[in-house]
This record gives sequence, C-alpha cells and structure tokens, in this order.
Amino acid sequence: MNLTIHRGTHEIGGSCVELRTTEAKILIDFGMPLDYDKRTPEEQEQIRCTAAEWCKEVDALFLSHAHADHYGLFELLPDNTPVYATEETFAVLALDGILGKDPTAHLKKCPIRGYQRYEIVGISVTAYPIDHSAYGACALLFEMEGKRVLYSGDVRLHGVKGKLYKYLPREVDYLLLEGTNIAREQYNTTERDVESQFINAFDNAPYALHLVWCSSKNIDRICALFRACLRRGKTLLIDPYTANVLAAVATINPKIPSATTTEQIKVYFPPRLTTRLTERNKEEYIYSLCPRENKVTYADISATPERYVMLVRPSVVEFLQKIEAKQIRFIKSIWSGYWDEPNTERFRRWVEANCEQLTDIHSSGHADITSLQHIVEFVQPKHLVPIHTDSPSRFTELFPNSNVIYLNDNEAIKI
Ligand SMILES: [Zn+2]
Repeated sequence: MNLTIHRGTHEIGGSCVELRTTEAKILIDFGMPLDYDKRTPEEQEQIRCTAAEWCKEVDALFLSHAHADHYGLFELLPDNTPVYATEETFAVLALDGILGKDPTAHLKKCPIRGYQRYEIVGISVTAYPIDHSAYGACALLFEMEGKRVLYSGDVRLHGVKGKLYKYLPREVDYLLLEGTNIAREQYNTTERDVESQFINAFDNAPYALHLVWCSSKNIDRICALFRACLRRGKTLLIDPYTANVLAAVATINPKIPSATTTEQIKVYFPPRLTTRLTERNKEEYIYSLCPRENKVTYADISATPERYVMLVRPSVVEFLQKIEAKQIRFIKSIWSGYWDEPNTERFRRWVEANCEQLTDIHSSGHADITSLQHIVEFVQPKHLVPIHTDSPSRFTELFPNSNVIYLNDNEAIKI
C-alpha cells in the first residue's frame, strides 16, 4: 500500500492525503490552502489544476471535519464521489448552501458514526470523535493489507471534549499527527477559562453592548459564550446563518441551545442577509426561526444595549451601523489571522471607530506541544508522520521515543 501526503507536510491547512491499495484509491481531506485568497490568479489556477489531478479516479473521500482548509476544494471532486464524514460535519457543511453553495451537493454523502467500523472499497474505516473547533470533528483509522493508519485530523485536548483522545486506537502502524502549534511554546487556555474570561469582560463593563466575533461553526465556543450570558442574565443575539447552524446541530444533539428552544437566544436580521435569502428563495431559513417571537431589532438593542451580547461577523456591519449605544465593547474570539484579511476591512474600520475596547478571548483549536505528547504517549504508534505543520523538523526533538518519518508533499511511500 502507498501513502502520499499531497499537501500538508510543511504547511498548515490545505491538507490532502492519499492511500492506495491494490484495489482502491482513497483521499483523506481535500482542503484549500489558508493563504489561497492572497495568491495570484495564476497560483490559484495552479493549485486547482494540481488538486484536480489528485482526485482523478478516487474511489472514496474521507473528511475529518468542516473547516475549509480540509474541504475547500470539494468542488473539484468528480460528481457522485462517495464522501464519508460524520453526520454533524455534513449538517454544518449543508448550511454553507444557505448563502453560497453546499460543497457536498454534487457528491454522494455517506454519513458515518463514531466508533463504528465500516468496510469501504476493501478498507476498514473507523471514525473517532475528537475535540476541535469544528463540530463533529473526528480522527480516522484505516485498516488494510495488514496495516493500521491513524489520521489525527485537527485535534486538541483543552476543549470541553478533550478527554476523547483516550478512546483513540493504540499501537497503530502509522500516526499522521497534526502539528499546527508545534513551534509555539505556550500552553493553551481551556474552553472553560474562555467562558470565565467572557464573564469577566461582561463584569468589567456591565452597561455596555458586547459584540463577540466568533465562527458560526465553532459550536463549543458559542456554547461557552451562551453559558457566560446565562450566568450574567444577558440575551445572546445571533444572525440567521448562525441560528440555522445551531438549529441543524441541535437536531442531532438536543443539548445544543438554539433560538427556537431557549428564551435566552434571539435573532437579529441584517437586511443584507435577509435580502440574499429572499433572492435565493430560501425564506424558509428565516421563517424556521419564528421571527415573530424571536426577532430583535436594532431599535430594541439601542434601547437596552446592556441586555445583549451579539455574535457578529464582518458581513453584518451594516446592521451594526444602525445601533446607537453609548458604550460598545468588542471581543475577538477567532483566529487572529482573520482580522487582517482584505474582506474584513470595513468591519475592522467600524470596530476601531465605534468600540471603546478590543479584547482577545480565544483559545486555539489545535493541541499545544504537551497535549501532542500526551496523544503520542497514549497511541504509541510504530511510526509518527508530521502533517498540518510548518515546522515538521521539531517532531524528532519533541517525540524522542518515536520513529518519526518525514515526508515531502506528493512523495509516495510504501507502507
Ligand atoms: Zn480545523
């Protein structure tokens, strides 16, 4: 059997791995490089052409989680390619279709459940739920031709489900381990600490309107924010896209709060977004949120800003412009790299001009060094392969008892 990491041996994001047996060719993740939008049109075209080659005659694709640096090139996959992912991952991806395109619409969706073994094109595959900043993330075990290969996907131990790593399979032949944070010496703040920091921020300015920028797909973070709101008697306001993501996830896991199941979450409707939904005949995504009972207007917010915490995104800036509040505070709860992206410029300028204080309350979606060492100690792989990292060479020093195998992009090895 051959293992090839097409992209990810020296890069964070844009991951794609190929396993090829005598009978089948499978891919694991098919991501877009994180800096894709900053590349020249020629480079972008090159990325797409190369990826189109990787996915030729692919028998099945396995997706670890719903982050674009793992699924962003799905549109290049041939129609009806079987794609395997958890139910939660498919639910979140389908919501991309509200405002844009469901990246899985042309594919054959095959939901898989955690800890169940599936026989697919002669390969045994098991998904292991793990903690990451994307809901429904999993590691994937592939067993074929007498070998066991475990792909970590993106993983961390400091989230609320961090202990899940203790259910990973052990003594596998190869562990492909993400190393996003391998070059950073710092420990990660836990998601529980993040919740306390939200509470502190509210307590520091009890009469302010608090805006929190966080990914609509980071369900655990939204839950942490919601718990902080509950503890300070505030109502969490979300936009229709986020509300639909929560509602979709809540149908799978009823413990997830959503606008239609709790009084403490309400919805604000940015006109730009509702117009787009109407133009696309997607009004059901508005009506399903019961706007009669759940809608909060900018006038409501202006009247009692201290009652609310708003989850915001760059695309809602026009709605924010209409709010009149004496004191607005802004919390950035997202990877800092997004702050400087070209498409956030208007939002950034509005925040800098109108918010009296900018605070970072965030914790990485990726394991710190100690956590990575815990994973390796637990799994005890026969070979360790760095992936999703810009500093693979640190693996030897940090995992002295492991047999580290260094690969280059597109280099096939026989295993
Ligand atoms: Zn990720």
